[in-house]
Amino acid sequence: MKRAKLLGLDIDVYSFDEAVEYAKKHKGQVVTINPEMFEYVNKNPEFADIIENAEMVIPDGIGVQLGLRVMGYNVKRIPGIEFAKRLISEFQSRPIALIGAKPEILSKTVKNLKSEFKGINIVYARDGYFDDPNLVFKEVSEQNPELVLVALGSPKQEEFIYKLKSILPNALMVGVGGSFDVWSGVVERAPEIYQRLWLEWLYRAIKEPKRLKRIFPSLPLFIIQVLKEKWS
Ligand code: UDP
Repeated sequence: MKRAKLLGLDIDVYSFDEAVEYAKKHKGQVVTINPEMFEYVNKNPEFADIIENAEMVIPDGIGVQLGLRVMGYNVKRIPGIEFAKRLISEFQSRPIALIGAKPEILSKTVKNLKSEFKGINIVYARDGYFDDPNLVFKEVSEQNPELVLVALGSPKQEEFIYKLKSILPNALMVGVGGSFDVWSGVVERAPEIYQRLWLEWLYRAIKEPKRLKRIFPSLPLFIIQVLKEKWS
């Protein structure tokens, strides 16, 4: 297992393909971590526990990639949305559950995935605006999925998966944030030029200005903290 320490948390530093293989073999909870989550870890010890207990923590965004580079780990980020799509293609004939996003987004996502992956076996799909999580835990566990993708945003999705893990110990579960919004075709992912210039965050912030409040001050604070750790 290849791990890096970043601001007190263990991050798995795999290539994309290695991460896919590791996840398929080991199952459990995969956290795709970003600077906002580091900030939340500082404020919330229970959330820190969840991250520490995750079977895998992968660097989702450019902020965490940069932080790892500052600490001397030359790793590339693994965008959660691409990681999750690859897992779907690897698991397609096996039972898959999708939980999260608005109802119309979820149904468009299911439709699009079914046309992209002909043999896909979606055994459970539930939007992310439910009152009783226990009912969702019960329903999803009855379907015994092997791959569970949860799009509730952070920290909700990590907390949800952490609880579900004790009910479905043999499933692989990934928190995928806004991925269903993109897969549904309703939200556009940043064009490749933004991704290549490490400016995907800027594109998302322009499209959805309320994101700016989340990114700032998280991103600069995160980088400052990493630099402090490096120089201490
Ligand atoms: N969401 C949900 N239930 C909630 C809150 C959010 O299903 O109670 C969904 C929301 O519709 C969106 C996703 O969670 O599809 C969060 O996306 P966002 O882009 O905010 O997540 P990020 O990737 O930034 O963590």
